[in-house]
This record gives sequence, structure tokens and C-alpha cells, in this order.
Amino acid sequence: MTNDSAAHSLLEEEERDFQLVVRQFMEREVRPLVDEMERAGRPPQELLKKMGEQGILGCYAPEEYGGGGGSLMTRAIVAEETARVNAGLDATLFVNISLVTRHLIKRGTEEQKRRYLVPLIAGESSASICLTEPHGGSDALSPRTTARKDGDHWVINGSKTFITNAPIADVFMVFARTSGENRRARGGTCFLVERDTPGLSVGKPFDKLSLRSSPTAEVFLENVRVHENQVLGEVDEGFYYMLEGLDLERVFEGASNTGIAQACLEVAVEYAQDREVFGERLASYQMIQDKIARIATGVEMSRVMFYHLIRTLERGENCTRAAAVLKLYSSEAAVEASREAVQILGGYGLMEEYPAARLYRDAKHHEIGAGTSEIQKIIIARETLKSGGKAK
Ligand SMILES: Cc1cc2nc3c(=O)[nH]c(=O)nc-3n(C[C@H](O)[C@H](O)[C@H](O)COP(=O)(O)OP(=O)(O)OC[C@H]3O[C@@H](n4cnc5c(N)ncnc54)[C@H](O)[C@@H]3O)c2cc1C
Repeated sequence: MTNDSAAHSLLEEEERDFQLVVRQFMEREVRPLVDEMERAGRPPQELLKKMGEQGILGCYAPEEYGGGGGSLMTRAIVAEETARVNAGLDATLFVNISLVTRHLIKRGTEEQKRRYLVPLIAGESSASICLTEPHGGSDALSPRTTARKDGDHWVINGSKTFITNAPIADVFMVFARTSGENRRARGGTCFLVERDTPGLSVGKPFDKLSLRSSPTAEVFLENVRVHENQVLGEVDEGFYYMLEGLDLERVFEGASNTGIAQACLEVAVEYAQDREVFGERLASYQMIQDKIARIATGVEMSRVMFYHLIRTLERGENCTRAAAVLKLYSSEAAVEASREAVQILGGYGLMEEYPAARLYRDAKHHEIGAGTSEIQKIIIARETLKSGGKAK
């Protein structure tokens, strides 16, 4: 995070100022709460409210709904800075702000925006996005959850799993098949279902390896009746909304991965400079320097690429292949960074009193969530083969 970085020049001055404000907020308000949030399995509502008041949540949302009207880059900055301090909190915000907020801004009716978007931006509510089902998440266009029309209502049946924020969400964006066949984008509809709707229930929070401060659970839908004005956008178009947002989601994920890898770098460098072994500082040994150099390289490459791709998306250009490259590369770099950080700390790397152990658990999530590494490779190969492997 010095000027000696290819990434530095890719930010506007006001974005660098914003980054500083967010970083200071994270150090002051979030870092002291990390252990408590990890134990409680959820972030405190008061913290979300504070983030809302500081303009950190709605930084890129329109001002008329309480947002800051900033660039997409401001949202990516918040993702990196949050993940640097606590990847679980970042996961909760990823769903509330990167996913649900963005869908509402793009497709919500005025009433839906007032009812759901405004409180999300203010940090007064949370939301979930319900796509993955017990029989599989990668094949997202083949849900068994269905909805059928009954007068001016829809009746939804099915179940969803691994749903971030489900234990704390006030509203659930539920994807269901309303027509057409499996694996077809046409025929999926997105419904906004409020928590107290009869027939909707949430399972016990999962006890999980990663992102322990972000609650995750199953969601069950049994004859859930919602009025047709709870459809987000158009009937049968929901999967297109999900697909068109994937590139941006992968780029935001790249920002989160950079934050985790950056945290690993900070932990590893501090320890290596402090610890003496065989009468010398760890940092003086070349085998340790090799690890630090590789972590630093992963951070730098991930950050330059996500900055660059945010700019690409801000110009409205397509970046499907590059976004998958970033998601794959940055998640692997974060996993490697966390592994090497633990190694540098030796026995202390395995102790919860240092953040390395948590970073090791959290980094792994990002090779699975929001599209696994295998799925990214399938996309990269498909797009590369389509272009004949030629340089663009
Ligand atoms: C902590 C956490 C939070 C999550 N939050 C949400 C959420 O909020 N909302 C939501 O909808 N989902 C959420 N998910 C689900 C996540 O998106 C899925 O776990 C992910 O998409 C993978 O789906 P799956 O777990 O069903 O694995 P599967 O799809 O069953 O895949 C299993 C394995 O097979 C591989 N695989 C699959 N297809 C192929 C293929 N064609 N070729 C080669 N290998 C293949 C996969 O890469 C993986 O390694 C969350 C998951 C976790 C762990």
C-alpha cells in the first residue's frame, strides 16, 4: 500500500482519500470487534448502522436512496479494506451491498427500492440471495425450487442451502424456475420474500470452517405466497439478471481476495522482522524472503488486475474471461499467502491469538464461493478456445 505499486496510479485522488477513510474506520471500529464477531457468528447490527452512517455501505448507490453516488471502484475499495480486517464481515457486506443492493438499484420498482434498498444502505437491515440448492450450486440454472402463478400471487416451493446472512436477513432474493427447462437461462424468476412470510423458514446456522463471523444457513420455502409486485424485474428473466452480474461479482471477489492476501502480507512481514531464530531475524533468511516475495507478488498482481477490471466495467465493456482469470488467480494467491503466512509464524501460525490461522480458514472459502475454481477454469478455457487463443 505504498506509492511503489503499479496499482497506485489507477485510483483517482478522491478514491485514494475514500480508501484512507475506510481503512481508518476498519482499524478503529472493526478490528477491536473481530474476535467477538467470530465467536458470535454474526456482525453486530450496531456496526452495520455505523458503516451506513459513515457512507461506507452505499458508497456507489444513488444519492436519492441514501447512497454516496460514487464509482464502482469505491465499492471495490470497501471490499478490499473490509476483507483485510475481517473476511466474514466482508462476506455479509458482499451479499447486502455488492449483490442485493445492485440488483435492487438496477431492477427494483420505486416501492421496492424504498422498502428494501434504503434500509440496506443505512445498515438497518440485511438480505440474502438464494440460488444454491442442496443438490448443487455450480449448475445454477437447474434449480428444483419452482413458483406457480395463483391469481395475482405466486406460490414458491423448494429449498436453498449455504445462504449467507439467512439467519439475519429481513428479505430474501429467491431464484425459482417459473417456466422452461433446466440449464436454460429463460424461465427463472427472482422474488423478494420477506422474512415473516408464512412458509419461509431458516435452518440453524452452519458451523463452518471459513467466514465464521458471517452467518450461513438453509432456507426452506413451503407454499410461500407472495404478491406479484414482489417479483424483481420481469417474470422469466431472473437468471439473465444473475448472469449479467457475474463479471462484476468476480471482480469484487478479486478485491476481497486482495484484502485477505494483503492481511497475510502484513502479519508475515511484522512477524518475520520481529522474531529471532538462530540469533538472526527471520526476515534475514532467504527462504523466508522467498515466501514474502511471493505473497507480495500475489497481492500486487491481484490488486492491479481488479483495479483495471473495475475501470473496464465502469466503461461498460465486457470482461468475462479476464474476470474469471482474476477470480481464479486472486483466490489461489490468497490461499497461498495464508499458507505461507502460517508457515512463517511457525507454531504461532496455528494459534488463534494471531490472525494467520483465521486468514488461512477464510482464504479457502474464495476458491469455492461465488463460483468454484473449476468453474472459472471452464469459463477461461471456453472463452480462450472461442477466440482461437489469439492475443487481443
Ligand atoms: C460460506 C458459503 C457461503 C455461501 N453463500 C451463498 C449465498 O449467499 N447464496 C447462494 O446461492 N450460494 C451461496 N454459497 C454456495 C456457493 O456458491 C456454492 O457452494 C458453490 O457455487 C459450489 O456449489 P456446490 O457447493 O453445490 O458444489 P458443486 O456444484 O456440487 O460442485 C462440487 C465440486 O465439483 C466441481 N465441479 C462442478 N461442476 C464441475 C464441472 N463441470 N467440471 C469439473 N468440476 C466441476 C466444483 O468445482 C466443486 O469442486 C455459499 C457457499 C459457502 C461455502
